[in-house]
Amino acid sequence: MATKARNRYGGSIEHAMGSQFETDYKATQRRGLEMSDHLKKEIGDLKRDLAELQKLWSKLSPDCICFPENEQPSFDWPLEGDIAFSVKCPVHGDRFKWPVFFVYVSKWSRQRAENLRQRRSQQYKKAWETAFPPHLWPAIEEATADTLFLRLKDGTRIRVSEIVRKP
Ligand SMILES: [Zn+2]
Repeated sequence: MATKARNRYGGSIEHAMGSQFETDYKATQRRGLEMSDHLKKEIGDLKRDLAELQKLWSKLSPDCICFPENEQPSFDWPLEGDIAFSVKCPVHGDRFKWPVFFVYVSKWSRQRAENLRQRRSQQYKKAWETAFPPHLWPAIEEATADTLFLRLKDGTRIRVSEIVRKP
């Protein structure tokens, strides 16, 4: 049938078929582009998921000593934050966001923080105790007339700050 039509109408049919071919081709190409946009998005999503998973897996590494992302540490003194931050995770480096805006913590809150720490996740405790080993911490606060110290369990005394007299 097609042969007959081509014989009879010659080029015009071929031209028409050519146009049809072009239309089909463009439609296929367009679908292809739509597909590739869709695939690009899918691949992008997969890459993000994979990165998330890799992050999760690496956080499960027994070598990881980071604080959990949803359990960022809080400190009684900026000095403690500096001490904790100086300890780096062998897998990830920085273990938490620091420095952060530091709010003065009252003595009552400091004692409460210590109790709360006991109820943290295993990973939090691991991260905490890497910087503050239980054979040295928690420290006892010792104040002279103008300076506050932390005395560790082995007797080491760390100068925390000049004492700021609260009104
Ligand atoms: Zn880590």
